[in-house]
Formats: sequence, structure tokens, C-alpha cells
Amino acid sequence: MMRQYELVEKVTRYNPNADEALLNRAYVYAMRAHGHQRRASGDPYFSHPLEVAAILTDLKLDDASIVVGLLHDTIEDTDTTRAEIDRLFGVEIGKLVEGVTKIDKLDLVSKKAAQAENLRKLLLAISDDVRVLLVKLADRLHNMRTLHFVPDAKRARIGEETMEIYAPLAGRMGMHDMREELENLSFKYLNPEAFEAITERLGDLREKNRDLTGEIEHALSEKLAAHGISAKVSGREKKPYSIFRKMQSRSLGFEQLSDIYAFRVIVSTVEDCYRALGIVHTTWSTVPGRFKDYISTPKPNDYRSIHTTVIGPSRQRVELQIRTDEMHRIAEYGIAAHALYKDAAGDRGNGATATTVDELGAIHLSRTKRLEKESQAYGWLRRTIELLAEGDSAEEFLEHTKLELFQDQVFCFTPKGRLIALPRGATPIDFAYAVHTDVGNTCVGCKINGKIMPLVSELSNGDEVEIVCSKAQVPPAAWESVVVTGKARSAIRRATRAAVRRQYTGLGRQILDRAFERAGKVFSEDSLKGGLPRLAHNNVEDMLAAVGRGEVAAADVIRAVYPDFQESRATGRRATPDDGWFGLKRAGSLKFRIPGRTKKKEDVRSIPIRGLKGELPVRFAPDGGAVPGDRIVGILTPGEGITIYPIHSPALKEFDNEPDRWLDVRWEVDEHDPERFPAQIHINALNEPGTLAQIAQVIGENDGNIDNVKMLKHSPDFHEMVIDLEVWDLKHLNRIIAQLRAKRVVSSATRVNG
Ligand code: MN
Repeated sequence: MMRQYELVEKVTRYNPNADEALLNRAYVYAMRAHGHQRRASGDPYFSHPLEVAAILTDLKLDDASIVVGLLHDTIEDTDTTRAEIDRLFGVEIGKLVEGVTKIDKLDLVSKKAAQAENLRKLLLAISDDVRVLLVKLADRLHNMRTLHFVPDAKRARIGEETMEIYAPLAGRMGMHDMREELENLSFKYLNPEAFEAITERLGDLREKNRDLTGEIEHALSEKLAAHGISAKVSGREKKPYSIFRKMQSRSLGFEQLSDIYAFRVIVSTVEDCYRALGIVHTTWSTVPGRFKDYISTPKPNDYRSIHTTVIGPSRQRVELQIRTDEMHRIAEYGIAAHALYKDAAGDRGNGATATTVDELGAIHLSRTKRLEKESQAYGWLRRTIELLAEGDSAEEFLEHTKLELFQDQVFCFTPKGRLIALPRGATPIDFAYAVHTDVGNTCVGCKINGKIMPLVSELSNGDEVEIVCSKAQVPPAAWESVVVTGKARSAIRRATRAAVRRQYTGLGRQILDRAFERAGKVFSEDSLKGGLPRLAHNNVEDMLAAVGRGEVAAADVIRAVYPDFQESRATGRRATPDDGWFGLKRAGSLKFRIPGRTKKKEDVRSIPIRGLKGELPVRFAPDGGAVPGDRIVGILTPGEGITIYPIHSPALKEFDNEPDRWLDVRWEVDEHDPERFPAQIHINALNEPGTLAQIAQVIGENDGNIDNVKMLKHSPDFHEMVIDLEVWDLKHLNRIIAQLRAKRVVSSATRVNG
């Protein structure tokens, strides 16, 4: 294991002004935090963050990145908290460590193929500092290097995730070496047979061409030196995965692959690149179609180099990359080479840490001064990040430069870390439906990042959303106007329709059950089947719903089933509560606020009798209302719905001759979710100053809620008035009436419809 001083030395070698004390503290802290934890290999756990830090020093990153490398698993795997890291190492490092932790929690592979691109975007969106990604890549690289210690099943998953997400990400960030190593390590675990076969063939070839690389290197350097160009020429064998990919993409066999060897010619100036190219091309014959000039036309990620293939000194195809030192550094380290370490030394002194957000809100760099100095590099960095998000081609790049990064999307997580990508403005309801239609249909509440929040909150990037479900729930129709995803909208519409239909069907069943009973006939759904053709309905459900909606009269159904049936009014009788309840099942009530709208009370209130959700064809009788504790009855009005009356209401007389329309209903009030109900009080009171105020005070003190006051008569001595108010239940209403009666100014107080 690397010693503390060795790590510090590695950093100070490229960054003489590194904060050694900070590095030392992080080393000791991480070592203690991980304590006796072990890795799958049996090594002390601390060896892992230490290796990650070492990889980051290879990339020559700033000391904050190295420290984050050391601390990156502390929040996730030890007792350490973000607050503690903030306190000991500063907020900048705290934020970075938390960023890495957040990525660790994602289960990127669960949705891999279809979402790989989304997932890469997500990584960018939530890693608002590019160093988070660099640490994450280093973390993944070390995990891949030690993957053989991990159990098989997990190995495949990690390998897949690396191949799908992290290797391409490294590539897009211009980190060629990182990409190559990640790909090869994944390849080894994902396709061990192919990996073995290619590795073996490469070994054979190496044996056969033992000195070839050296010969070609030598011949090339000689030739260039003869023309006064000093060049570093190095040959390297292609990696198994890139050979495999070539074999696949061109459907070639191993023997047919000619360019197993590639050589880099590194010179000092751009001019030398072209001179070297001229010399190579005049000395050896070129392979047509293999010449590419990425110096005059750099790749979008700023990769610059000349590529060509010639038939080399030993009659071998030789692939050449000609570039300057500077180009080489960028080609190797990509994003890491460019913006992060350069000039860090000069900045250490003033230590001004400033988190800077570019106009895309995408990247933060830590030191303002560095940004000024490196505005060019920074611009490049930003372009690269944009590009990572937008795709590969230069055209695409141009097309998208002006678009804001991820402007139209938010990425959120389930508590298990599954990613849900949603359009901007999406709510937890959209989230629930995106997880599963059943989750959406039954959701009643949510927690965002552990806090209970309204279901209509707008989600932000990185939110962890936990949906609370209740089997009894039916989505309120009004949600339709709150959600932004089509999936949620159509599911809500379907569910509402189905619920309404279910209720009508249930209602129809009750109506028929009662009507059949009165007619002295046996009711069963089976018996209805015979009558279907005569009623022009295809199935029993449809017919029941039609009865519930009042489109088909119960008597017609009886006649359809029993053609000889003679209707007799005499059998009709009014239902009483003793007939047994058939309270419509309560399905939860529509209670939420639509932001930005002022709503009337009706919008947030519903009647806990119905269960007929959505279109809610249930309402209280206009005069007097009804409150829990009242015996109530429902009156069905075909095509309109059900009106709830207190059983003693004089208005019920009107329906005496229509027993079919009477429905037994009952309250289903949820004590944990109290609602108020409408009632009216008729009051005679003295006409003197302050009377109204006293009445209002009594009601207010007793927790009644006045909706309206109507003055009926205005005589010199008395006021006669009706007060609309809302109360919890009958007891509450009676208490208020009693308190009113106790007032000297009140000569009478009675309930309307009482
Ligand atoms: Mn780790």
C-alpha cells in the first residue's frame, strides 16, 4: 500500500504548491474512517481509495480531486457525514464527495441499453463539477482492475455498466487511455472467450514479430532525423477490445486484420507534423483511404492528430498518428489535461475558492483566477460537456451549442436508485406513473429527499422521490390538469373513467337488487343475461352501468328478464336504514391544491359518501346540507347523480312515489382526515350594535367556519338570518347551536332542515 509520504510526493512532483497538510489529513482521516473494513480481495479497504487517489495523480489533478479520491467512499461506507467532511475539509470538498456518493447510489445498469445515453446525461447533470466524474471514473477504473475478486454475478453487472456507461463517458471526455483500459477490463469479463482468444493470438504474433516494433520505430526515427526532425516514435499493440470491435464492425477474421500495430510520432511543432507526414508518404507507399487530418479539422472534443497508414519497412501495414506534445497530452488525458491542473500552482497562494457556474449551469470550477487565465480551455471544457450530452458529430455539435444543457429534462430517483427521466415541470404524480401505472393510480402522498411534500410539487434534478400508495385510492380527475407527462394523463383518464363506471355498475346492481326484491323476483347477474338482447346491451356490466346512470329503468330490466311480469306500485316502499347499508365505498378524497390558482372551497372538498370519483355525481341537497351523525339518504336523479338529504328533510316528500330513486347511503368519515360539512342555522336575534359580531364570535370560538350570512328580515327589533357554515359533524353543529341560544342577543337558533 502506498505510504502517506509517497502520495504527497506524487502530487508535489507535478504541483509543487499542493496543500500537503490537507492531503495528509485526508489520508489519515480516510484510513481511520475505513478502519478494519476489508475489500473482496482481503486487502484493507483503505487500499481502494488510496489507489483511486493514485490514479488521479496520474491524471495530474488538483489537490481537491486527490482528497476527494481519498474520501470518496467515506459517506457511503462509514459513519462519516457530509457535515463532518464540510467541517474538516471545507464545503468544496464536501460537495464533491457527496457528488460521487450520489452517483454510487445509482443503479445505472437496470435500464441500461435503452437508457445508456440518458444515463450518461444524468451523470453529467448531477455531477455539477467535472471533478466528480473524474473521481468516479478513477474509482471505476480501480474497481475494474480488481474485479476478479468480486463474485461472478456482480462482476457481469459492473462490467456491463462500465462498458455501457463509463467507458463511453471517458471517451467523450477525451480520456483515451481511461476509455481503453475500462473497455478492455469490461471485455475480459463480458466476453471471456473472445478476450482469451484474441489475447492468445496477440501473444503469438508478438512472438513471431519479436523485433518488428523496434525495427519500425528505429527506421522511422532515422528517416525523420535525416530530415532534421526530432521525433519520439513509439509503437504499441492494439488492445484486445479494439481489435475485437474492428473484427465485428468489419466482419473480419483476426488474420485479415492488418493494423495490429500502431505508431505514434510525436514532434514539437505543427509544422513538423506536416513535414513528418511528407517524409513518411514519400518514403513508403500509402494505403488509400486511411489518411485523416484532424489537425486542420479537429474532432469535436479537440482531439488533434494526423492519421495515416503506410506499407512499412518490413512490408507490414503500419498505422501512424502524428502529433505534437501538446496534442498528445490532450489526446491522452482529455478533459483532465485541459482545464483542471494547469496553472493550479499559481493559484494556491490566494486560495480564493469560488464556485463558478457557467451559463448552462453545468460546470463548476473552483478558482476564479484560473478561469480567467484559462478562459479558452474552459470554453473547450464547456463545449465538451455539451457535446457529451448531445452526441458525436460536428454538425450536431453546432446545432446544439445554443441549447441549454438538459433544459427540458429532470432526472430523479426511486429510493432504490432507479433513474426516472421526466420532462421539466414534472410532479411526483408523473414520477409515480413513470415508475408504474399501478403506483400512479394508487399514490396518495410523497416524500422528496425524505421530506413529505405535496404531490403537485415540481421535481428537480437529483431528487429522490418516495411515493406513498394506498390501495383504496382512485386518482382524482383533477390530476389530469396537474401532470405534464402523457403517460400520467392518459392513465388518470382511464382510471377515472373506470372508477366512475365501476360506481355506476355498483349503483345499477343495487337498484336492480332492490327492484327485483320488491317485485318478488330473484336477482342474479346470471338471470340478467337472458334479458340482454331485449335491452340492447352486450354484457351485464354495460347494462348495470346503464341502470346506474338512469338510462335504463329497473322495471324495464325486470320485464326483459321476466316477460310476464306485471308492475305493481303497491309493492313499492321507501327504504329505511334498517334495510341494511350499502354505503358506496369510499375511495379517498380529492384534496390537493393546484398551484397558482385560487380555488373555491368546493375544489378542495369532496363528499365522503360517494366514491364516485372524478365526475362526482354526488352532492348535498341545496338547503341545509347534511353532516356526519345525520341519518342520510341518497336520491338518484337519472343523468345527474345522487343528492344527499338528511332523512328528516321535508324536501324528501317530493320523492315519496319513486322508491326506485331512494338509496341507502352512509357516512364513511375518516377520523384521521377530517373534513367539514355544510349546514345552515336559522337565527332570530336582537337588532342592536354588535349582535352580528357576537354571533360570529360564538361560531368562531367553537371552531365553526362561516361561509355565508343571509339577512332574511330586517325589523327594528329583530334580525332574521340564515348562516351557512361548515362543521365537523352533528355534535359539533349542536354545540354551536346551543352556544348561540345561550347568548342574550339570540332569541332563537335552529337548524334549517332540522
Ligand atoms: Mn469506491
